[in-house]
Amino acid sequence: MSAKKRVPVIEGLFDIETGQLQGTRCADCKTVYFPREETLCRNPRCASTKLEATSLSTRGRVWSYTNSCYAPPAPYVPTTDPFEPITIAAVELEDEKMVVMGQVEGASIEDLEAGTEMEITTAVLNEDDENQYIVWKWRKAS
Ligand SMILES: [Zn+2]
Repeated sequence: MSAKKRVPVIEGLFDIETGQLQGTRCADCKTVYFPREETLCRNPRCASTKLEATSLSTRGRVWSYTNSCYAPPAPYVPTTDPFEPITIAAVELEDEKMVVMGQVEGASIEDLEAGTEMEITTAVLNEDDENQYIVWKWRKAS
């Protein structure tokens, strides 16, 4: 039996092994974009088209959080039947101060509060006969 191939749900958004988010940074004004901006800097005070690949912070703090008590639409694939609530957090990245949403692994809303330190990880969203489809998730920082 061969191991299934690990495939990102969307190519180019994150490192499939670590979950580290992959964005771009303006070479002139240093504005960071996630998802990646490839064409031109959107800072109204900057006319640069020099955008460089950058890896974003792997840690941050909870800015807001909630749970979803009904299954989100596709591409989300429910893993339990009946659906069990999932936890979702908006996390402010340590260096960039951008807020990035993600599902939370291993914690419910009772375990979180604004300011809880989080770190990024990966998880299997779903799988078929050949592939495991990988997403990034947030978990409480160790
Ligand atoms: Zn710029």
